[in-house]
Amino acid sequence: MSKMILQPKIRGFICTTAHPVGCAKRVQDEIDYVQERPLIRQGPKKALIIGASTGYGLSSRIVAAFGGSRAATIGVFFEKEAENGRTATAGYYNSAAFEQKAREAGLYAKSFNGDAFSDEMKQKVMETIKKDLGSVDLVIYSLASPRRQHPRTGQLAKSVLKPVGTTFSNKSLDLNSNKLENVTLAQASQEEIDQTISVMGGEDWEMWIEALKNAGLLERHALTVAYSYIGPELTRGVYRNGTIGKAKDHLEATARKLDEQLKKYGGRALISVNKALVTQSSSAIPFIPLYFILLKKVMKEKKVDEDCIGQIHRLFATRLYTGGPIPVDENGFARLDDWEMRQDVQREVRANWDNLSDGNLTQYADLDGYQKDFLRLFGFGLEGVNYDAEVETDLKLPSTLC
Ligand code: NAD
Repeated sequence: MSKMILQPKIRGFICTTAHPVGCAKRVQDEIDYVQERPLIRQGPKKALIIGASTGYGLSSRIVAAFGGSRAATIGVFFEKEAENGRTATAGYYNSAAFEQKAREAGLYAKSFNGDAFSDEMKQKVMETIKKDLGSVDLVIYSLASPRRQHPRTGQLAKSVLKPVGTTFSNKSLDLNSNKLENVTLAQASQEEIDQTISVMGGEDWEMWIEALKNAGLLERHALTVAYSYIGPELTRGVYRNGTIGKAKDHLEATARKLDEQLKKYGGRALISVNKALVTQSSSAIPFIPLYFILLKKVMKEKKVDEDCIGQIHRLFATRLYTGGPIPVDENGFARLDDWEMRQDVQREVRANWDNLSDGNLTQYADLDGYQKDFLRLFGFGLEGVNYDAEVETDLKLPSTLC
């Protein structure tokens, strides 16, 4: 047992401490959001969420479990437990809180903390599905990782965020000084492109689906969804036309391939294009935080701003589980970035971006709001949490205790 008073410790674009009570409060807030909305009665019954501890994956787990269909959930993630006076990572505390709340609600929830890219993890998860659930009807693929060790070749691939075929320069925000800077990124080498595709492309998703299908653990009408991003012209050079965009192209091509296979059994494989949001992964992408800060202000003013839970609830309620065909665009994607990409929203963000200088930054950008959103990812700054109290940091996932 180790009790401590916890403060945020920020290093670069991450916070190296997390607050267990604050993380539990965030999870509860997301559950409350879902429960205050109409029930999604036709939702999933047995869901596997890969990348379930933070961001879009955590919200997917919450909507599956608490959105109305009371899904049993298995979550896979890669987080650190508390040790040697260090707190666990936020995703670990989120998952401990999720499991606790699921159990209190009488819902099945088990979690696996380790490398989703490995064959061992796939095997362990499949054994548990077989033993406890028999099969799954929903697989959400929401991994965001800086590296992947290939399960067959053993090669370590690292994902980089670089433009492809050209350099890219634009304004960016130095998150330490809150000053604008001009950043130029060198173009990626072919090796860097290939490695980023290995980490963030669709190969691992396909391996999961193949393995589940071959083991007879996918229900006939099963649905699998992976998350992608497109974004506007402003970020295209570093995102969609960059290394990560090449990986997303691969993920999307994988969706088409898997969809062909699953359709034969009444199932579907889909891409949901989600909106840009502050998560642990997106904060690390150059230029994106500044775009996000400008976007959030405009979307808030237009009353169309959403966070992860709002996006995923809308995805389940109005796209995936309406009882009718899933509405998709001409590429077959569910578009949850529809409000972000609205012409009036983008026109204003672009104009603000062009006008931006250190002198008028606060006029166009809610820097305090960004800082607060960022700290909330780690459980800090939540209403109703006593941050002066000592808290137990050495929590365990309930499902690992029995
Ligand atoms: P996130 O950092 O909040 O979550 C990533 C998850 O992946 C965590 O649960 C983490 O533990 C898990 N993970 C990472 N490496 C792992 C490994 N080796 N094994 C097991 N689990 C591992 O990220 P996010 O922003 O929610 O992104 C999820 C997906 O959504 C990504 O594909 C991302 O590209 C996409 N997306 C994000 C945004 C955005 O703005 N944040 C927008 C659209 C789409």
